[in-house]
Amino acid sequence: MLEARTLRKSFGRTTALDGASVEIGEGEVVAVTGPSGSGKSTLLHCLAGIIRPEAGEVLFAGRRLDTLDEDARTRLRRENFGVVFQFGELVPELTAEENVVLPLLFGGRGRRESLEAARSWLERLDVADCAGQRPAELSGGQLQRVAVARALAAEPRVIFADEPTGALDSLAGERVMGELVGAARESRATLVVVTHDNRVAAYADREIALRDGRVVAGATAATGGTADGTPGEAAAGASAA
Ligand code: ATP
Ligand code: MG
Repeated sequence: MLEARTLRKSFGRTTALDGASVEIGEGEVVAVTGPSGSGKSTLLHCLAGIIRPEAGEVLFAGRRLDTLDEDARTRLRRENFGVVFQFGELVPELTAEENVVLPLLFGGRGRRESLEAARSWLERLDVADCAGQRPAELSGGQLQRVAVARALAAEPRVIFADEPTGALDSLAGERVMGELVGAARESRATLVVVTHDNRVAAYADREIALRDGRVVAGATAATGGTADGTPGEAAAGASAA
């Protein structure tokens, strides 16, 4: 339901993606791994329609995403995708609770329902205490948890999360991963999570390994996992060979 075909993307003289291809099925939980600078965030942003590749194609539910105009892309994203950015990226002027409520209101939900959903998700991510605080008053780990609450509250079809546990200790990290994967399984949503943490990757059905802007393992379900959901040989033994 989500597919990237030979994506290329450069920033100045840096090639971030160099022919990356990947297929992700509906309801799959996949981990995107690879060294720093290998293109993980860039791939995620292309798949989520946040940035446009210079070459290649991005498809969502059989539809070209990369060629849609800005308005159509924004609408499609709002209706289907939830994104947790690598560095939180909450609206600085709003409280944690307002940050979670706002996208729900944009999505057409009522005020009371939005507020209830926001409170319940902040509670599930252990940041109910932070509801009235602004992002500048929160720690890195609290910001991440609020960002996860914001993405999940909207019940998206696809959840993209970029290092959602990077600023958390292992216990809090496991709790956040548990909520992310639990929410995805409950609502049969697709979850794409970028991580360099093996323990996080272990939650996934499949590991997609990037090296130098290319997918070197786990590009399709057949190459990356086994039927019981444990990572397959291709995922475990990722190499650039
Ligand atoms: P990390 O694990 O450190 O988050 P990553 O795998 O997510 O790394 P990307 O952020 O996708 O890597 O970056 C891939 C390459 O593209 C890097 O060399 C990076 O410096 C470069 N790059 C990414 N975004 C930009 C940008 N907005 N401007 C300039 N260069 C960029
Ligand atoms: Mg990154």
